[in-house]
Amino acid sequence: MSDTASDSLPDAPVDADVIIAGAGMAGATLGLALASAGLTAILVDPAPFDAQLAPTFDGRSSAIAYASFRQWKALGAGEELEPHAQRIEQILVTDGTSPGAAASRPGSAFLRFDSAEIGDVSGGEPLGYMLENRRIRAGLARTVEVTPGLTVLAPAKVASLQVTPAAALVTLADGRVLKAPLVVGAEGKASVIRQQAGIGVVGWPYGQSGVVATVELERDHEGVAHEYFLPGGPFAILPLTGQRASLVWTEKTAQAEALRGARPEIVHAHMQRRFGEFLGAPKVVGPVFVYPLALALAEQMSAPRVAILGDAAHGVHPIAGQGLNLGLKDAAALAQVLVEALRLGEDIGAEAVLERYAAWRRFDNTMLAAATDVFTRLFSNDIAPLRAARGLGLAVVNQIAPARRFFMREAGGGVGDLPRLLRGEAL
Ligand SMILES: Cc1cc2nc3c(=O)[nH]c(=O)nc-3n(C[C@H](O)[C@H](O)[C@H](O)COP(=O)(O)OP(=O)(O)OC[C@H]3O[C@@H](n4cnc5c(N)ncnc54)[C@H](O)[C@@H]3O)c2cc1C
Repeated sequence: MSDTASDSLPDAPVDADVIIAGAGMAGATLGLALASAGLTAILVDPAPFDAQLAPTFDGRSSAIAYASFRQWKALGAGEELEPHAQRIEQILVTDGTSPGAAASRPGSAFLRFDSAEIGDVSGGEPLGYMLENRRIRAGLARTVEVTPGLTVLAPAKVASLQVTPAAALVTLADGRVLKAPLVVGAEGKASVIRQQAGIGVVGWPYGQSGVVATVELERDHEGVAHEYFLPGGPFAILPLTGQRASLVWTEKTAQAEALRGARPEIVHAHMQRRFGEFLGAPKVVGPVFVYPLALALAEQMSAPRVAILGDAAHGVHPIAGQGLNLGLKDAAALAQVLVEALRLGEDIGAEAVLERYAAWRRFDNTMLAAATDVFTRLFSNDIAPLRAARGLGLAVVNQIAPARRFFMREAGGGVGDLPRLLRGEAL
């Protein structure tokens, strides 16, 4: 590794095949994918790996599509993650307040998804898995630490990027310079690599924040996830291991901020007031987390010697629980494109190679960002005609088995031109 920018130019050897800025869930997955095919990578992150493991680092839990989970298993992280993965066997979607999809005699505006219905194509896998982000980070970090070919620089922050015809030079905040044929921006929505590469972003804030709390439940959730579209906005009750659930709902940003750091009794009182009949008597465990929500889509996913993935490339509303899944698909596709390019003797930082990655991922990312945006607007209001239309939409889909199967396979990540890792195969 070079000490200054000047001795990296022009003849210093490269430090790795790929420099990955950001060792979050998407960046770490890419690192593991590259290493599984014999490439070397340096992961750079300002958060020490230990800090990422603390319960306070990220209070969210993620719905992980079954195809995304297959990738982690194919990359050797399954043993670390499986004990913390709650199978999602059913998803019950209800529009309005009552009676819900969970009721024995539900009203018309509901939708039920059952993993048994797609058992033939999913091989008995559930609709997806719920995992706490801190468990995912810990599991990936431990797998990264024991994987040959990966180097972690943390705490260390990427500060700037210089691209020459032959290499990408990444300068860290402490002055060190790293050199590689390719740098990947995986540092989340404020990606330095994306900015330095001159890649613009389109999008807008929703003026809402996602509020997340973990609760202990009175009764077993039996692997059922609930999504209620209430007048105040969507509200999800997502099953976690150990008879717990992750609650996610949206509030106007000022109201959400007032909940941040509030005592559990206050949070509990707020939730009972807002969602009373849906919850029984859950016990709030741990702090409340607040995440401002915005749509952000990068105008390109690559530039000379640069690729971006995960939230660095697309930030979407969590209404469909797909943001991280998109990032994991990016990682699978990018790793496959790079490995195939190497086998053909191509330069992995060449624009033609990176364009193959961008082309593979562009449509899926753009469509999902657009769909979640429309969905958010449609379901975050209580205008009577819209309520009627979406109620009808849910009822129609619920009546048509092939439509239900389509949505389940789509959410499970099992459709389209899947990269090998998402099929559970090695690169
Ligand atoms: C309320 C809520 C609920 C959600 N639920 C779901 C869900 O159920 N399912 C789902 O799929 N998605 C969900 N998402 C989306 C998901 O959380 C994100 O898409 C995901 O965290 C993005 O991962 P990432 O690795 O791309 O970025 P991040 O998680 O943001 O990680 C970026 C990493 O880069 C590091 N970094 C930052 N700056 C630098 C720098 N200068 N140099 C180097 N490293 C840097 C950071 O320390 C961090 O480790 C949800 C989002 C919200 C807000």
